[in-house]
Amino acid sequence: MRKNKEVAIDGDAGSGKSTVGKLLSDRIQFEFIDSGLLYRAFAYTVLKKCAGKSDRGEWVDIIQNIECDLKKGVIYIDGKAVNEAELRKKEVDDLVSPVSTVKEIREIATEKLRKIADSKNVVMVGRDIGSVVLKNAFLKIYLTAPIEVRAKRRHKELPERTVNITFEEVLDNLKNRDVMDSNRDISPLTIPHDAYVIDTNYLSPEQVVGKIMQFLKGHEYVI
Ligand code: C5P
Repeated sequence: MRKNKEVAIDGDAGSGKSTVGKLLSDRIQFEFIDSGLLYRAFAYTVLKKCAGKSDRGEWVDIIQNIECDLKKGVIYIDGKAVNEAELRKKEVDDLVSPVSTVKEIREIATEKLRKIADSKNVVMVGRDIGSVVLKNAFLKIYLTAPIEVRAKRRHKELPERTVNITFEEVLDNLKNRDVMDSNRDISPLTIPHDAYVIDTNYLSPEQVVGKIMQFLKGHEYVI
């Protein structure tokens, strides 16, 4: 039995996991871990080292031979910090789900994430946190929202220099990732049976955090 407290937040792309997870972790003073950044770092490395060539064996080789760390929200590849904006570029958006389907790559990520959660209280967000990575999490949340709403949020968040990316392109990327993430053989995106589901469509991030705080109180976790 783990002695630390873990809040697992899973959900679709653009459902508000990162925003809500950060706010919640500030509120309850747990460390915030965005597992998507780790998968993005793997896809980013594959792009850098072999321009995303579609040989999955080569992807695994590349990932096995780098040192990748996630410390206080920053990704380090072979000791060098990578700017989060680089990890959120369109090329990475397009490759991250295929890279995340590979069993060996998921095993590396899962082990890393569990190790991080071993020594501290965490709010961890992702796709398989409540179902696989932190199966015994103290509280499990699943966030969702209609795909057009999620795409609108993601499009609005794009930095100035990427104005050439259209709403339709963002929508397409989310649709493709939803399909791939939900249908892969290993650790597909799924609603854990013991998770609270929150539709974030008409809620502000603060309101979602308010709901989660109520669930925490229900679990006798009083701040
Ligand atoms: O959360 P974010 O959208 O940044 O995640 C990027 C991608 O990483 C997802 O679309 C999914 O393919 C993968 N991922 C995953 N398991 C996680 C977190 C992310 O497969 N726990």
